Amino acid sequence: MTLLEIADLRVAFPGPTGPVNAVNGVSLEVEAGRTLAILGESGSGKSVTAQAVMGILDAPPARIDGAVRLRGRELLTLPRKQRDRISGEEIAMVFQDAMAALNPVYTVGHQIMEVLRVRRGMSKADARRRAVELVDRVRIPAAKDRIRDYPHQFSGGMRQRIMIALAISLEPDLLIADEPTTALDVTVQAQVMELLAEIQRDSGMGLMLITHDLGVVAEVADDVAVMYAGRIVERGTVGQIFDGPAHPYTEGLLASMPRVDRRDDVLYAIPGAPPNPAQLPTGCPFHLRCPRATDECRVTLPPLAALPAGRESACHHYEEVLGARR
Ligand code: SF4
Ligand code: MG
Repeated sequence: MTLLEIADLRVAFPGPTGPVNAVNGVSLEVEAGRTLAILGESGSGKSVTAQAVMGILDAPPARIDGAVRLRGRELLTLPRKQRDRISGEEIAMVFQDAMAALNPVYTVGHQIMEVLRVRRGMSKADARRRAVELVDRVRIPAAKDRIRDYPHQFSGGMRQRIMIALAISLEPDLLIADEPTTALDVTVQAQVMELLAEIQRDSGMGLMLITHDLGVVAEVADDVAVMYAGRIVERGTVGQIFDGPAHPYTEGLLASMPRVDRRDDVLYAIPGAPPNPAQLPTGCPFHLRCPRATDECRVTLPPLAALPAGRESACHHYEEVLGARR
């Protein structure tokens, strides 16, 4: 069942020389009970897409067009009050920086209890009991005592767990996690990601996971949408994409991924940098960095085309890309 549907989403911000087109017609779905990874470099529009879904972009100055539907209900045009009610209850978000998302002057227990008391009308005693359960759920030892601590008394990884506890406190149907482990060191990253995946599985919620990390995608995603310059350039299941990408950008990302079974001294890196969203190139936005680019690519924007087996690719030469791996 489709939980979230984004249709032709466009987001532009005013810039000094004209609009900055951060998201240029993104369409995707998050299925209930599945994890969709949105993969892209910084500046690809993946965070802005998430923020538009979450309703936390200022509009104006942002100009937002298209549709965002949660179980068929349009969110972009919902009055503020109804929109706010959906936040937390139906869609919740976990950010990269827990320190910025948590309030430094209240204990973590107080912050979780406050949500439960205000939104669920729970008594103080019930809210405390539930807060302990939630903190325990995210595997923080001695939850009963730790809820009396302030955010700064936790390590980075533990704080991220607290933010997850807060995000799932109202049992949302969809969780959006924007680079939730990027700021953590590698071992802690893996533990927090594992926890997030486990909670997703147990609760059956949909997870939209925003990441630049292919390793994370391989670990936890069911479906993948690869973003470049504000567009989706490839979509498929995680198996399809790792078995054989259908877009040169994904091909480059995979080639630059460190792998234990391949001991290259120098990793491949995609040449150049992503284009400036205020000055997108003509034709395919990837053509300046693409080893497969032809004259057609420099003039004509490739549409996101349907491929066999439910995949999609926005490349004029996707057949060659698919063929390269066989
Ligand atoms: Fe490369 Fe052309 Fe495909 Fe764009 S359309 S990704 S430039 S081959
Ligand atoms: Mg980001």
